[in-house]
Parts: sequence; C-alpha cells; structure tokens
Amino acid sequence: MNTKNIEHILPPPAPHMVGDGFRVHSFFPGGRLIDKKRMSPFFLMDYGAKIEFNPSEEPRGVGVHPHAGFETVTIAYHGRIAHHDSAGNSGIIGEGDVQWMTAGSGLLHKEYHEKEYSKTGGPFQMVQLWVNLPAKDKKTTPKYQELTNQKMGRHSLTDGKSYIEVIAGTYQGTKGPAFTFTPMEVYNARLQASGRATLTLPAHYNTGLLIIQGSAVINGQDVAADHFVLFKNDGEEITLEAKEDSIILVLSGEPIDEPIAAYGPFLMNTWPEVEQAIQDVNAGKFGYLED
Ligand code: MN
Repeated sequence: MNTKNIEHILPPPAPHMVGDGFRVHSFFPGGRLIDKKRMSPFFLMDYGAKIEFNPSEEPRGVGVHPHAGFETVTIAYHGRIAHHDSAGNSGIIGEGDVQWMTAGSGLLHKEYHEKEYSKTGGPFQMVQLWVNLPAKDKKTTPKYQELTNQKMGRHSLTDGKSYIEVIAGTYQGTKGPAFTFTPMEVYNARLQASGRATLTLPAHYNTGLLIIQGSAVINGQDVAADHFVLFKNDGEEITLEAKEDSIILVLSGEPIDEPIAAYGPFLMNTWPEVEQAIQDVNAGKFGYLED
C-alpha cells in the first residue's frame, strides 16, 4: 500500500468571533491553500481552539441564523453548547458528543453556551464542520443526529489504552453511528503517549487531520497541537504516533464533484438557488425563531 503523503501542515489562522461565544480559526475554505472544493465533501472547518470563558449569567453565543443545502457537524471537546431551531427542536451538545444537523431544505437556529456551563465558565473547545450535500439531497428534510459519546464506535489499538473513536464511516470493521449522504470517514484518534495507529483511506478521498490535543508524528513528520495536516490524493496509508496523550480529528471523504454556489449560510449548486433560499428565508419559509 502506498503512503498518503502530506501536502501541507497548516498552523491555525488568526481567530475571529462568531457571535460572542465562538472564537474560531477557519482553516477552510479559502484559508491558506484550501479552496472550496479541496476538502469536499467537507466545505468548511471552524476550529474553536481551547480557551477559558469567564462565568456569565447571560449565555454567550450566536443568534438566529439560517442554514440550507448542507449539514453542520458540531464536535464538543470541552464545554457544552445548546441549540434551538425554528421547528421547535432543541438540545445540548456535551463534552465528547457530536451533533450532526442536516439543514437540507432549510431552517433557522441559534447556538449558545449551555446555561450551566455558562454560569461556571471554564475550558471551551469545539469544531464545527459544514458537510456538503449532493445536489439530489440538498432539499432533504432537516433532521438531527444526536451522537452522544457512548454511541461512538470504539476500536482498541494494540497498546490497549489508545483507541479510534469512530463518528462516521468504519475503522477496521468498527462502524460509527452517523448516517451520511455521501461516503466519508470521521474519527477521533484518542492516543496515549507513544500510541500508534494506521489509517487506510482511499487515495481519491480528500483527507485532512487536526491535532486537537497533544502532538504527534504523522507519516514521520512532527505536528503540533492546533495544526491541520492536508494530505495529497496519492496513496492510502497514514501512520499516527502520539508524542504525548493526544486527540487527533481525522476527516476523509469522497469528493462531491458538483458546482458550488456558496453565500453566507447557504451552500447550493447555482446562484439562482442561493437567491431562492434568501427569498424563502425572507418569506418565512424557514419558519420563525425568537432571538
Ligand atoms: Mn449555525
């Protein structure tokens, strides 16, 4: 099997605030070297590197906004996030949990620090991915997959303590709980110091990984915390070796080879579809949600 070679190791871009609750490094799209299709089906990755929030009686967050044409996948590593949407759904994403929200035909929602977390404050770390939908599924009915940590697939590695936590896809026979519209693999490699793992992923899959915690040797190269590794589409095999206790988020998926018209929170195939989505929001077709 051929090595899937490293194309770039990217340090975190300068952070910006989303609302007043999410301080994120936007690795893609449009960041350094990763255009809107380079990581397809993953369109966007906002990384909230670990920071401390002070206690606040008023939960910080981002107010009512629409999404359509894709999925938001929120992975919480520290802190807790609450959400509410225009269909009356709400929930809490706790540490180690993943919310896989299919916006599809469109909804309005808001995302805040969960009330009790907000009151105590403390460490906060999360990733939000925007996963594109193929044209045939862009209008699918909105839905949620609440992937609590105990639902994740767990594949133990040879040291007995390290494991691959499978969110989506399959690692050596261990399946993740997420339903996806196109083939993809999403894992947290949770490695003890000197823990090792080998990943085998199709050569044509767009593949990257983010060091959430610790540091690791990836295909023989040192990679520090909060750095993103983009791989070439030239081989199948990646080797991970943790230098200390580490968490590594692995993303790999079959590219969706369709046109992209992206504008704000809309991810469509054509500009008329984007204009239609804006009109639909203004006409109240995404429902109503109080700020
Ligand atoms: Mn949102």
